[in-house]
Amino acid sequence: MKIIIIGGVAGGATAAARLRRLNEGAEIIIFERSGFVSYANCGLPYYIGGEIIDKEELTLQNPESFWRRFKIDVRTYHEVIKINPYVKTVSVYDIKSHKTFEENYDKLILAPGANPVKPNFSAMNSDKVFTLRTVEDTFRIREFIDYNNPKTAVVIGGGFIGLEMAENLKKRGIDVTIIQKNNQLLNVIDSDMASFIHSKFRNEGIKLLLGLNVNDIKINEKQVSISADCINYINADMVIVSIGVVPENTLAKDAGLSLGIKGAIKVNEKMQTSDENIYAVGDAVEVKHYITNEKTVIALAGPANKQARIAADNICGINSKYNGSQGSSVIKVFDMTVASTGINEIQAKNANINYEKVILSPLSHAAYYPGAKVMTLKVLYEKETLKILGAQCIGYKGVDKRIDVLATAIYAGLTADKLKDLDLSYAPPYSSAKDPVNMAGFIIDNIEKGIVKQFYYEDLLELQNRSDVTLLDTRTEYEFIRGHCEGFINIPLDSLRERISEIDKSKPVYIMCQSGLRSYLATRILMQNGFDSYNFVGGYSLYNSIHNEQLLASNVFACGMEK
Ligand code: FAD
Repeated sequence: MKIIIIGGVAGGATAAARLRRLNEGAEIIIFERSGFVSYANCGLPYYIGGEIIDKEELTLQNPESFWRRFKIDVRTYHEVIKINPYVKTVSVYDIKSHKTFEENYDKLILAPGANPVKPNFSAMNSDKVFTLRTVEDTFRIREFIDYNNPKTAVVIGGGFIGLEMAENLKKRGIDVTIIQKNNQLLNVIDSDMASFIHSKFRNEGIKLLLGLNVNDIKINEKQVSISADCINYINADMVIVSIGVVPENTLAKDAGLSLGIKGAIKVNEKMQTSDENIYAVGDAVEVKHYITNEKTVIALAGPANKQARIAADNICGINSKYNGSQGSSVIKVFDMTVASTGINEIQAKNANINYEKVILSPLSHAAYYPGAKVMTLKVLYEKETLKILGAQCIGYKGVDKRIDVLATAIYAGLTADKLKDLDLSYAPPYSSAKDPVNMAGFIIDNIEKGIVKQFYYEDLLELQNRSDVTLLDTRTEYEFIRGHCEGFINIPLDSLRERISEIDKSKPVYIMCQSGLRSYLATRILMQNGFDSYNFVGGYSLYNSIHNEQLLASNVFACGMEK
C-alpha cells in the first residue's frame, strides 16, 4: 500500500508514525511545503520571547530522523498543488528545483492545517507586519526584534496566539497594545472570567483596546500606523495580526471534496472525506462538537493528533472513530493559568440550552500548607439533565488539573452532581480533602436539592434598585470597609446568629461574602430561621473583578480609546 500525506506537522507526522507502527510494509511519503516537519507550533511564541532558547528545540524531528526511525520518506519544500482523485495521483511542486511531478497513491491523508486570516490591510505585506503559523514566521519575527530593537508593538486580536504573543513581546521589553474587536479577550471563556485576564494584562503593563475594529494598517515613515473605528492612528514599530485562522481547503475544494462550515473539509467518524480513498485531519476539517453535536471547527493540537491516529487506524483496517471535540484548552498568562473545556454561557444560550452555573473560589491546596493560591472555577450544567456542559478555571496553581478532571467527567458523561463523588488524590501540597472539583459538585448537589438558592452578578442592578429585599454582606467589618457592593449592609457571619433580629424576615435576603463560602453558611442559617435567602455566585472577588472592568469600560469611548 502506498500512502501520501499532505502536511507534516501535528496531524501529518502523527498519522505517518501510526501508519508505520501498523503497517511495516507500506510506502509512506509526507509532502511538506515549509522547510520543517513535526515542529512545535505551540512553542513558537516562547522562542520569540526567549523562554525557549535553542531554535533546535522547536523541531522535534527532521526528514533524516524520520527515515532512520520510521522509514518514512519526508520531503520538505514540496508543495502538493493538485489532487487528481480519479487517477489517484497528486501533482507536487518541488520548491527548490522548481520542478513539478506526479506521485500516485492508494490512500491519501490531507493534514494541511489552517491559514492565519490576513485582512486586506494596505501594509499587510510590510516587513513590520507579521502573522504567526510556521517556524519561518517565527524566525522572521525573532530576527526583526533582534536586529531592529522595536520599542512598541500592536497585537491585533486577543485570542490564544495574540495573548501569547503579547506576553512574549512584553518579555522582550517591548511596549505592547492589544486591539480586540470584541469587548473581551479570549472568547472561549465568559466575560465574567475574562475580567481576571484583563486585569492581569493591565497589571503587567499591557494596554488593552477592547471593542475596537481595526480598519487599516499603513506604513508611516518608519512605523506602522493602525487606524481603527473612531480613532485616527496608533503608531507602532511592529504589528502582529492574529485574528484567527481559516481551514486550508484549496486542494480539497479543487478536488471536489465536500466542504462544510467555514469551508472546512467534511469527514465522517473515520476521518474519511467524501472520497473513500482520501482522509483528512486537523485544523482543516469540520468536527462535531462533543457537547452540542453541532458542526464546528476547532483548531487545537490534541484533536489533530487524535484524528491522525484514527485516520491511520482506518486505513490499516482497524475500526476507529472520532467522537467529536470538546475544545479543551489551556493558556499561560504570565504567572496565571486559564483553562476551559466544553461550552461557555454564550454557546449554551445560542444552543438554547437551559443551563445553571456555579462559580467558586477555592484554594489550590490545603490552606495550612504554604503557597496555596486562590483559583476561580466555573462549571455550567444543563438544568433538566444535569449534563455537564463546560468549565472554566483561572488561577495560579492546579488550574489545568481541575479542567482536565472536568473534561474527563464531561467525556465520560458524568452528571454534575456526581462531581462530589469523585475520589481524587489528596495530600496538603496538592489539594484539599475536598478538591475544588468536589466542591463544585457539593454546590451543585445543594442547588439541586433546594438546600441553597443562588443569585448572579447580572441580577445585582435590579436588586440594588428594590426596596423589598435585603442585601447582606457577611464578610468582616474590615473587609467590608475596604470595599463592598453598593446597597449591601454588613453583618459578619460570626455575629449573624446574635444579630439576626436586625434583618427583616418579610423580605428575601441576598447574601454576599468574599468567595461564596461564608455567604453560603449565612444562607443556611437564615433559611433554617425561616428567611427566604440567596447566595451570590462567585463572591465579592468576582463582583469586584467584573465591576472594575465595567468602570474601566465606562471611561473609554465605545471605540476603546480613553476619555
Ligand atoms: P499544522 O500543524 O499547521 O500542519 C499543517 C502543515 O501542512 C503545515 O506545515 C503546512 O506547511 C503544510 N501544508 C499545507 N498545505 C500544504 C500543501 N499543499 N503541500 C504541502 N504541505 C502543505 N494548539 C493547542 O492545542 N495548544 C497550544 O498551545 C497551541 N499553540 C499554538 C501556537 C501557535 C503559534 C500556533 C500557530 C498554533 C497553536 N496551536 C495550539 C494549534 C495547533 O498547533 C494546531 O491545531 C495543530 O498544529 C493543527 O495540526 P494540523 O496538522 O492540522 O496543521
